[in-house]
Amino acid sequence: MTSSGTGWSGGAFGDRAQCVLAPNADTMTLDGTNTWVLREPGAQRCVVIDPGPMIESHLDAIAQAAGGRGNVGAVLLTHHHHDHSEAAKEFAQRMGCGVRALDPEYRLGSEGLGDGDVVEVDGLEVHVVGTPGHTADSLSFLLPAERAVLTGDTVLGRGTTVVAHPDGELGAYLGSLDRLHALAEAQEATVVWPGHGPVIDDALGAIDFYISHRRERLAQVETAWRSLLERHDPPATDDLPMAVVEIVYSDVDPVLWGAAEWSVRAQLAYLQR
Ligand SMILES: [Zn+2]
Repeated sequence: MTSSGTGWSGGAFGDRAQCVLAPNADTMTLDGTNTWVLREPGAQRCVVIDPGPMIESHLDAIAQAAGGRGNVGAVLLTHHHHDHSEAAKEFAQRMGCGVRALDPEYRLGSEGLGDGDVVEVDGLEVHVVGTPGHTADSLSFLLPAERAVLTGDTVLGRGTTVVAHPDGELGAYLGSLDRLHALAEAQEATVVWPGHGPVIDDALGAIDFYISHRRERLAQVETAWRSLLERHDPPATDDLPMAVVEIVYSDVDPVLWGAAEWSVRAQLAYLQR
């Protein structure tokens, strides 16, 4: 399957992964949510990551890729956002397994999920890496056998992600990028299998770009913020984030300014920490 450009439609990757693309494309989800079905070659049961939105045809497609009821060892969530989690409990019930997530509210069954956990299903090993920032409960999943890291919304296949203040937190996010960078530098993760958009064949390059983009934006936000405060009639505190957006994101489609405002709020919180 294609892994670049706008023709992303999911498909098989490495020897262990099948990406089933959900039909929920919009400005925030890019091509739609990537649901990942992971299975050790020849094994019966698989792991399903992010069943995605409650769309019947999508659940049927994942169930088919997973091999039907009894063939899913666990459903794991990268984070709680609805486009990743909405169908999780329903899908797990149909498959006869649990849902494991960092946030207890999104679990089905007694098993949690957190940094350092290793999930093993029929020989498949998934290592959990805590990567808070996009949300407080964001996790990434490392597949050592594929040297792949599944990043949810922490690193996307295209463009950059939103740190959604106040649940998301920029200091934590920068720390998470550093952690992913270290995994890529050590060649423990050479490819990124993201929660939206195409797979990335150069994990280190992509994470480098994310880090430099984030630092650049932060510097732009700081400059805009200081210039607004120095004005004769500075904007009211509540209007300040959007005033910063209008300066820094002037090159971005205004349809995305709402999301940009949350990102700016996260950056202002970070600058004022
Ligand atoms: Zn998200």
